[in-house]
Amino acid sequence: MSDVVVRLPDAQATRAFGRALAGVLRAGDLLVLTGDLGAGKTTLTQGIGAGLGVRGQVASPTFIIARVHPGLVREDGTQGPDLVHVDAYRLSSLDEVEALDLDSSLEDAVTVVEWGRGWVEAIATDRLEIALTRPRGAATAADAAEVADDDGGAGERVVTLRAVGERWAGVDLAALARAADDA
Ligand code: ADP
Ligand code: MG
Repeated sequence: MSDVVVRLPDAQATRAFGRALAGVLRAGDLLVLTGDLGAGKTTLTQGIGAGLGVRGQVASPTFIIARVHPGLVREDGTQGPDLVHVDAYRLSSLDEVEALDLDSSLEDAVTVVEWGRGWVEAIATDRLEIALTRPRGAATAADAAEVADDDGGAGERVVTLRAVGERWAGVDLAALARAADDA
């Protein structure tokens, strides 16, 4: 499948896109988010968490590497998937990744990994790779972090979706992108 590109003019659009994306997610899905510091990875994950209806505030896992948000309990008693939010920024080897023991998460939860590229390919064959970039504004990651702290990181983000594996074959990501553009 070819890449799908989405333009997100502000943080609200990033969250809304995350909520829409959550609509196609199911237990066992893996999302790999890449992009510089301040690109919007955590903001997108917040939208996904809201869309899934999971409990707990989705935040940058500063000291915690992986945080589990329990899934939505529906009125009929069934439960939606947990959201496992991983920040791999501080991880430096595949051993450290394997120590997180993500196997059960990769089967039963929606797993979102920030900074996953480079190692996460080794743990799953099916995944949705989501690259966030900042076409204008800050030239470096350090600048981006500063801008993000100062004014909420003004400037649109461009998101590129790349589906890898059978799981995503029937998922119409382009429709999601069009919905985001129309919003
Ligand atoms: P990361 O997790 O990639 O380091 P964050 O999600 O913490 O980045 O986002 C950094 C900042 O960028 C936040 O202040 C957020 O509100 C802002 N932001 C997110 N998406 C957009 C967007 N589409 N346009 C402008 N600002 C955005
Ligand atoms: Mg983050």
